[in-house]
Amino acid sequence: MAQQFEDKFHRKFYYLRLSVTDVCNFKCSYCLPEGYRPVGGEKSTFLTLPEIKRVVTAFADCGTTKVRITGGEPSLRRDFNDIIHAVSNTAGISKVATTTNGYRMAKQVANWRQAGLTHINVSVDSLNPRMFHQITGENKFEQVMAGIDKAFEVGYEQVKVNVVLMNNFNLREIPAFLEWIKTRPIQLRFIELMQTGEMDQFFEKNHVSGVNIRTQILANGWMPKVRQSNDGPAQVFTHPDYQGEIGLIMPYEKGFCETCNRLRVSAKGKLHLCLFGEQGIELRDLLQVDKQKPELISRIQAQLMSKSVSHYLHDGNSGATPHLASIGG
Ligand code: SAM
Ligand code: SF4
Repeated sequence: MAQQFEDKFHRKFYYLRLSVTDVCNFKCSYCLPEGYRPVGGEKSTFLTLPEIKRVVTAFADCGTTKVRITGGEPSLRRDFNDIIHAVSNTAGISKVATTTNGYRMAKQVANWRQAGLTHINVSVDSLNPRMFHQITGENKFEQVMAGIDKAFEVGYEQVKVNVVLMNNFNLREIPAFLEWIKTRPIQLRFIELMQTGEMDQFFEKNHVSGVNIRTQILANGWMPKVRQSNDGPAQVFTHPDYQGEIGLIMPYEKGFCETCNRLRVSAKGKLHLCLFGEQGIELRDLLQVDKQKPELISRIQAQLMSKSVSHYLHDGNSGATPHLASIGG
């Protein structure tokens, strides 16, 4: 193995979030309320399969063991199965996850599993079909639920469900969500709404702190679970009466960045050291032939020295990220 990716604060990077497209077919009110709008024929410029293989191989050589394929909506890529297959066949990668809006899951999840996908996150912001439609702009609740059922049917032991909690939309649904996971092996991940560059008053009106939710669940017998080195950012809780688990993602909490173990590569091949606050570092020129790998690794290692200790979100920084579809959430 080449030298493990590490920054000057001794954080080691085991986890790569790889975006494969900016395109999305949903219009989530906190992400792409107007829907996806291509900028100057950008569709054709997303990373190709050979480029994806090269970037993942370089990360794996430097200690990355988990890759999350994200977007936009990653399953809109026609070669999505090939991408999963390529990532899962990279030496050193033991976990291949995706985050999806679930639109194609019912039809495709068996193929994804066969291609090597080990973990699935699906976004379901409401258990009420009308509210789901209102939040996502799409009347696809039943389709997404069928996708979750299918995932269990084809052999996934757990599915993670992402829920962005919002004051004026789904906050009242927490009890319904908890009831739902009583008998299902679902890790419900309550994500705090994050402020992005294109958000206006939406954040002020809808942001809910995860702190109160944590206090509530701890008072109700939920217990914290121990973290693994390549785990994502969630604080996970279990309860003896529930088959499911709760994950809390609280990016505004002090200390959130201390356990940062992940790096991001955008769909156009830029390295992002943090979800917020920078324009990205070009890697694509070094993804053209296999023999560029040492140079690619050196560039990433050099850039890691400038990774900041924190995202400073709590100081109102929403940085250069217009919306999370542009960098993969
Ligand atoms: N399209 C896929 C999906 O929605 O699952 C993958 C990409 S999406 C950008 C990844 C995750 O980021 C989703 O769970 C979504 O709910 C979340 N997300 C998007 N914008 C967000 C925001 N402003 N604050 C918090 N979470 C956000
Ligand atoms: Fe699309 Fe995901 Fe953004 Fe919703 S959160 S608009 S599904 S990229």
